[in-house]
Amino acid sequence: MPAHITPNQLIQLIIPAITLVFSLSFACAWAYDKRLRYLLSLAASFGAFAIGSAVQIAHLPDEWRLNALISAAFYVASTQLLAEGILRRAALHFRLTTHALIFTLVMGGMYYFSYVAPNLLVRIYILNLSAGLLMLFCAAQFRKRCNGRTINRILFWVLVICGASFFIRTPLTVLQPLPRSTAPFGQTIFWVFLQLSLALMGAVLGLVLLAVAMSDVIDRLVLERDFDSLTETLNRRAFERLALHRIADTKSYPLALIAFDIDNFKSINDRYGHAAGDAVLREFGAILRAAVRDKDVVGRIGGEEFVLLLPAADGAFAYRIAERLRTVLESSRFEQIDATLRVTTSAGIARYRSGEAVATMLARADHLLYAAKRAGRNRVIAESSGQTSDASTLDIA
Ligand code: GH3
Ligand code: MG
Ligand code: MG
Repeated sequence: MPAHITPNQLIQLIIPAITLVFSLSFACAWAYDKRLRYLLSLAASFGAFAIGSAVQIAHLPDEWRLNALISAAFYVASTQLLAEGILRRAALHFRLTTHALIFTLVMGGMYYFSYVAPNLLVRIYILNLSAGLLMLFCAAQFRKRCNGRTINRILFWVLVICGASFFIRTPLTVLQPLPRSTAPFGQTIFWVFLQLSLALMGAVLGLVLLAVAMSDVIDRLVLERDFDSLTETLNRRAFERLALHRIADTKSYPLALIAFDIDNFKSINDRYGHAAGDAVLREFGAILRAAVRDKDVVGRIGGEEFVLLLPAADGAFAYRIAERLRTVLESSRFEQIDATLRVTTSAGIARYRSGEAVATMLARADHLLYAAKRAGRNRVIAESSGQTSDASTLDIA
């Protein structure tokens, strides 16, 4: 045990203290949304780094070989956990055996160059280059799997810079005359520079990762706010918001809106139970999602009422789409529902008239939808041409 902690050491302990704050922040973000498990790896990574540097700064234990090995173990674990966290966010991960191999190789080298052939320079190279390699590998993997969102691009470049800096920083050790004895290493300019640059990079990386975590938590909240969890389509509010965007963009003209309402849905619920009704809703949601293009907007705006907004769609195109969706639902079979029973939908199609509100277009589509109901259900009525499909309707009530 060191007799006492010097003021110099106390100042240096700010580094593990700040790293610990980052670790706690990631743990808090994880507690907020436990599905974001990669945050746990990041919390553990920053925690491990804090312990490693505290061990090194406070000379605990005082025996240099043991100290070097213990702090190195925490540093290596910290880098591996960081890599794991970043890869997990991109839905990738290292196998446990790969982690074990990396840890054993690096720590084997650290042991050899501490106990068998003590060499500080080699130890510095092993630790720094392995960390740099791991970070650059992560950056490359991350880039392959992550979309081009600004926050992802920033994270990628921060990883590249951090990874590359290990390769730049390490050769600086040869420019700085190293002490023969290892004890005063903590007082060399090199070590202070190393710690400061590491702290700076760690802080930048920590802040960027925190921003990534916050953006992921917010994305989840927005998803929950906007999506109907049963059908995985937009809810009414989000549909109206996106429809406004499409209307504001004249490039998406002509616009068509299809309103669907499942026929006799109440009797499906009454005869087969609410769960069967839910299965029908889920299936129709899936049918709609599978059919739409990226620019289309699909939402569930009522119990069994769905809407589909089609940009760049004239009346004939919208009619073909509505007809296709009607026939796909009609030919779908449900486990919970009698195989002879056809679940059908009626639909009304309105075409956007310049200057009108989303609600007005929706009301016109609804009006035609109810005309389709009155005409016998399981059919599509479009506004402009008066086209209708005439499928036989099976009344299950
Ligand atoms: P129509 O052919 O005229 O459209 O008749 P319908 O029976 O489909 O119409 P109605 O509006 O009378 O029935 C809608 C039913 O949808 C009533 C409600 O209990 C049911 N419903 C609303 N939301 C849900 C839901 O989330 N799950 C289930 N299973 N049923 C729902
Ligand atoms: Mg209905
Ligand atoms: Mg209805």
